Amino acid sequence: MTSDETFDESCLFCKIVAGQIPADVVHTGERTVAFRDIAPKAPLHVLVVPREHQPNAAAIAASNPAATADLITVAREVAIAEGYDDYRLVFNTGAGAGQTVFHAHVHLLAGGDLPFAAG
Ligand code: 5GP
Ligand code: ZN
Repeated sequence: MTSDETFDESCLFCKIVAGQIPADVVHTGERTVAFRDIAPKAPLHVLVVPREHQPNAAAIAASNPAATADLITVAREVAIAEGYDDYRLVFNTGAGAGQTVFHAHVHLLAGGDLPFAAG
């Protein structure tokens, strides 16, 4: 456990961060962990999550700005490492917007026809 890590025993992503549930992890850092989405919506679909348990992106931004910045810089590093210069980041916030796991995370999507286009 790093200093940033908190644990909610009912939280799937806390269990992945803690290594209690297996995942295809592509990055581990002091404040973040990144792993492939179990149901990919694009050729590259990775979730970058803070080690600190917070229910959504705004909550981690308020609690831990450094971890929030890391979500974005780590997403870029993973995209580049996977061979993608161009990518999309998505933060679903609230069930009405499609959030199903209430541990903050950013979706990193790249390749092909990307879902969730706003423009
Ligand atoms: P949300 O809909 O909350 O923004 O995104 C949650 C994401 O977590 C979904 O894209 C879903 O496919 C992914 N997911 C759900 N359960 C698991 C799991 O056990 N392992 C992994 N790697 N991804 C998961
Ligand atoms: Zn959690």
